[in-house]
Amino acid sequence: MKTTTLLLLFIAFSAVAQTNSEIAKSAVRIEMLFPEGKTKALILSYDDGAIQDRELVKLMNKYHLVGTFHLNSNKLGSNIYFNYLNKDEIKSLYTGHEVSVHTANHPNLPDISKIDVIYEILEDRKELERIMGYPVRGMAYPFGNTNDAVIEAMNGLGIEYARTVGDSYNFEIPKDFLRWFPTMHQFAKAYWEPNQPEKDKKELELFYKIIDDFLQTKELAVLDIWGHSWEMGTDQKKWDETEKFFKILANNQTIYYTKQIDLVDYINAFRNLKFAVDKNSATNTSAINVTIKMNNKIYNVMAGTSINL
Ligand SMILES: [Zn+2]
Repeated sequence: MKTTTLLLLFIAFSAVAQTNSEIAKSAVRIEMLFPEGKTKALILSYDDGAIQDRELVKLMNKYHLVGTFHLNSNKLGSNIYFNYLNKDEIKSLYTGHEVSVHTANHPNLPDISKIDVIYEILEDRKELERIMGYPVRGMAYPFGNTNDAVIEAMNGLGIEYARTVGDSYNFEIPKDFLRWFPTMHQFAKAYWEPNQPEKDKKELELFYKIIDDFLQTKELAVLDIWGHSWEMGTDQKKWDETEKFFKILANNQTIYYTKQIDLVDYINAFRNLKFAVDKNSATNTSAINVTIKMNNKIYNVMAGTSINL
């Protein structure tokens, strides 16, 4: 076919599309808002379960923040790399927060066999579920590392999201929940390398700039900050820095403070809403209330109900 013919066909098709109101109607944009019409979501995601999580959780609770904690069940109670929490304190410590898989022994998953990947994840899931008493469905990759083979091995293990450490520095909802790129490391990597005060200063500036961008944006935004409580260790300066950014993010009416798995469930509930062909009604078959925006109007589609739009 000649280029001119193609061009003409394209023009003819566009003309039909523009005059056909049914097509226009079905192209109505339906946007997700977070619960209660909030436009921002905050995830605070910490790995490894070091004893400093005690202090960290206390600080989160002080500011009514919600954390997601990725734990290595076989390390709990030991002091192999650092001091880990004891198993018998996990359940009460993390009340109101999420406990999630970080594998039983913290291996680099791309380096081990498929069966060992399966073992590491299931073993951790099973033990954390025994401790917590609920299905554990989230995960963070040890060292943040994954690849296609690891993700293939994870099929059927009941893991619904898995976080990497590939910082995106944006606020987008990840397309693939098993390749979840967080926004950024706590302090944007400041203090990660010791004795680099100039570098620390720049990284902290970036960190607070990104937080400010998040607070200012009018778009739907997820801020996902990850780190480890052992990074703060016994250094009061780093704990002060943690409290500083917690304070900035706390008590904000536009922010949905969420466990990572609750956000995943919410997004899935939104994606699973059923709409009439002409978008004049919707049904929410899930157990989660979902807020949507359509034609600049906000609707709450309550769990298990249908509404007219
Ligand atoms: Zn780790």
